[in-house]
Amino acid sequence: MDVGVFSKRKIPRKMDLHQTPCSVVVSPQKAYKNKQKKKKGGDLEDHGTQNEANKRYAFMSFWELPEYMKDNEFILRYYRVNWPLKEALFSIFRWHNETLNIWTHLLGFLLFGGLTMANVLEVPQVADLLGLFTRSILTSAKANVSNNSKEFFLGTTKLLDLKQVASPKMDTKLPGTSVIRWPFYLFLGGSMFCLFSSSICHLFSCHSRNLNIILLRIDYVGITTMIITSFFPPIFYIFQCDSHWQYVYLGGITAMGIFTIITLLSPTLSTGKCHVFRALLFCSMGLFGIVPAVHASIVNWSNPKRYTVLAYESSMALFYLTGTGFYISRIPERLKPGWFDLACHSHQIFHVFVVLGALAHYGATLVFLEYRDRVGC
Ligand SMILES: [Zn+2]
Repeated sequence: MDVGVFSKRKIPRKMDLHQTPCSVVVSPQKAYKNKQKKKKGGDLEDHGTQNEANKRYAFMSFWELPEYMKDNEFILRYYRVNWPLKEALFSIFRWHNETLNIWTHLLGFLLFGGLTMANVLEVPQVADLLGLFTRSILTSAKANVSNNSKEFFLGTTKLLDLKQVASPKMDTKLPGTSVIRWPFYLFLGGSMFCLFSSSICHLFSCHSRNLNIILLRIDYVGITTMIITSFFPPIFYIFQCDSHWQYVYLGGITAMGIFTIITLLSPTLSTGKCHVFRALLFCSMGLFGIVPAVHASIVNWSNPKRYTVLAYESSMALFYLTGTGFYISRIPERLKPGWFDLACHSHQIFHVFVVLGALAHYGATLVFLEYRDRVGC
């Protein structure tokens, strides 16, 4: 754990961790002045670890934050405030209260980047690796359901195994290439944009008030984009033979997404105080999906893949709703303020559930593709 600022003050590390937040922080301005003094003062002091420590910027406590950064009163310490871009960039390798927020979505972005490449380059082994991953999710989920549901999930995992569902030709290829692929890649692109913009937002929003506002808005646009683009593969492929429903549903969700983006660009709604409203807005977009989902279930109830798709999409909904629950409730840090400053606070948990939800939806999308490749319209 990085407590560089504390070593700067020559206080033993263990002792620092148990002090009150206010007693251990140094303002960035003071740290900067100290750094400048060292430069002017010549080489009288040891330039080893001391200089190394001086290069680092100090963390601040919640009570010292400027108003625009006061988002979560239960996260008490390890805030970066008004850090230069370079320092903010390299803080990706330091422990502070945003480190895991950055990495959870950055790794998700890299994962979806890898999946996109695997599909573009047609590398079924990589897509199959995802199959192993989602299988483990479904296996753990299955522990919570009745025995009757066992076959349901086992069937799901089997169906995801491309080698089992595919024709002999597909042993060497991803499910055929005949069906239109752009809705699938749109979803992958939307997910990557959301995950990347979120990482960038968490990394650089400590720079200044102006950048903070801009990045938060980009983050909200990213979340909305991910929700909108997630609708494209299921609606496009399910209603491929009935195109006017494609227009109705995709037009509806796109209009709703644009309305959401315009609403969230309002300065008032970008503040920390409106986090519940934002979460409800995103949830309402997700709930919009119930209409085409019910419609699709009725129309395709005889389809043998219905349980597979329902399993994936139910998992996705469960992941997103659970994540949103953490986001709104601010549990666990609400229960023990200051205990989860660095790890396991609600926003980090929310991030993990977002990635899991997107992965579950990716699994469902593979089933749609495989089905349309095999059956056509
Ligand atoms: Zn976030």
